[in-house]
Amino acid sequence: MTALKLLVQKFGGTSVDDIERLKIVAKLVDKTRRAGYSVVVVVSAMGDTTDHLLKQMESLRRTRPPPGAVKAMTPSNLREMDALLATGEQVSSALLATALYAIGHDTRSLNGAQAGIYTDQQHGRARIQGIDTSHVRQLLQENQIPVVAGFQGVAPDGSVTTLGRGGSDTTAVALAAALEAEECRIYTDVDGVYTADPRIVLDARRIAQLTYEEMLEFSSLGTKVMHSRAVEFAGKHNVPLRVLSSFRDGPGTLIAGERPAGGSRPLEQPLITGVACNQDEAKLTVSGIPDKPGIADDILGPIARVNIEVDMIVQNVGEHGLTDLTFTVHRRDYLQARELLGRVAEKLGARGTSGDSSIGKLSIVGVGMRSHAGIASRMFQALAREDINIMMISTSEIKISVVVKETHLETGVKALHRAFELEWDKPGQEVVSNRSQGETDPAPRQASQV
Ligand code: ADP
Ligand code: ASP
Ligand code: MG
Repeated sequence: MTALKLLVQKFGGTSVDDIERLKIVAKLVDKTRRAGYSVVVVVSAMGDTTDHLLKQMESLRRTRPPPGAVKAMTPSNLREMDALLATGEQVSSALLATALYAIGHDTRSLNGAQAGIYTDQQHGRARIQGIDTSHVRQLLQENQIPVVAGFQGVAPDGSVTTLGRGGSDTTAVALAAALEAEECRIYTDVDGVYTADPRIVLDARRIAQLTYEEMLEFSSLGTKVMHSRAVEFAGKHNVPLRVLSSFRDGPGTLIAGERPAGGSRPLEQPLITGVACNQDEAKLTVSGIPDKPGIADDILGPIARVNIEVDMIVQNVGEHGLTDLTFTVHRRDYLQARELLGRVAEKLGARGTSGDSSIGKLSIVGVGMRSHAGIASRMFQALAREDINIMMISTSEIKISVVVKETHLETGVKALHRAFELEWDKPGQEVVSNRSQGETDPAPRQASQV
C-alpha cells in the first residue's frame, strides 16, 4: 500500500472551547481523512484554560519577596508551572481523541513526551531540540490518528516543559517538518492573517499569501495569530503553513517561501503588507551614566544573563561625558529588569533610573518597503495627525516600529491602516467576502491571552 499524503491540523483554544466545538473539530479531521490524507492533530488547551491555571498558580506564590530579593519565579516554581500548564493541552487531546473514536476513527492521544518532543531545560520558554517521530509514525502506519497535546515537551532531566504562550503552533510546525507533511494547517477563530487585527480594525483585509519573512516580522511584532517560533521553524524547514478558520470554510492565508507570480496580489507590490501592535511592552531608562566603551554591556549584560530579552535600545548623544540609555522588555519581565537595573545603576554611579510599563509598540511591515522611500515620514505624519507622541523608533529593511503610550495603540493602528490604504474596498486587493455577509465570529478573547 502506498503511504497517504500527510497533513498536520492544529486547533487553537477557541476551536476546542467546549464539547460541541470538539465534535465540530472531530468532523473537520474526519473530512480530511475522507479526502485521502493521513492526519496528525495538534491541540491547544480549551478556551481560557491556560489563563485559569496561571491564575491558580499565581495565587499560591509568595507576593512579598524578602527585602532585596528579585521578585521572580524560582527554578522550582517554573518547573511546577510547566507541569501544571501542560495539563490543559492533555485534557483537550484526550477529549478530542475520544470524539474521533466516537465517529469511528482509531486514534491515540499523546502528550509532548509521548510524541517524542525533546526540548532544552528552559521552563516557560523551552526550545525544541529534537523530535523522535517513531511513535507517531508507528500510529500513522496503523492507520490511527495521533492527537498531540501542543505547547509542551520533555527536558533532558525528564521534566515537562512548555514552549511559551501560543506555543502549540510551534508543536504543529515542528511535527510537520519532522514528518515532512504536505502542509501545516493552523485552525483558529479568524479566517486568515489580516492587514491588521480584525478585532481592532473592522475593515481589515485578509491576506491571501505571505512570505515567511513577512509573517515572522508580523508575529514577532505582536500579531499573535501565529507563534513567532513556529514561523521561524516553518521558514527554516520550508513547511507551507496555512491559517484557517475552524468556524467556516475558506482558503485562509498561505505562508510560504515565495509570493505567487501574478496571483491575487496587485501587480505592483503594496508598500505595506500590514500593521501590527503589541501591548506587552515596558521601557526602562538609566540616566547620567559614563559615556565610555563597554557601558551598554555593563547595563544590558546582567539583564541578558537572567534570560530577559531586550528589544529596542536607544542611547542618547553624550554630554559632559554622561549619557542615558533606554530599552524595552516584555512587560512580564518589567519588575525583575527594573530591580536589576537599579543595582547596576548604583554600581555605575548613575544619576538614576526610571521606567514605564504602560507603553506599546506600533509597527508597519512589508517587503515593498525595501524599494520605496518616504514610508517612515508617512507613518510619522499619520500618527502626528492623531496627536500620538512617538517615544522610540526602530527600523529594519521590512518594518518600522514606534513606541507609544498604551492608550494610543488602538487609534494608532487604525490611523496607520488608513494612511497606507489597506482597507478592503481598495481595488485589486483581496476582500474578505464572508465578513460582509453578517457571519458572526466568536467573541473576542481577553487581552491577557497572548
Ligand atoms: P488560537 O487560540 O487559535 O491560537 P490566537 O488567539 O493565538 O488563536 O490568534 C488568533 C487571534 O489573533 C485572533 O482572534 C485575532 O484577534 C488576533 N490577531 C491579531 N492580529 C491579527 C492579524 N493581523 N490577522 C489575524 N488575526 C490577528
Ligand atoms: N494553551 C497555550 C496558551 O494559551 C498554548 C497555545 O494555545 O498555543 O498560550
Ligand atoms: Mg495562538
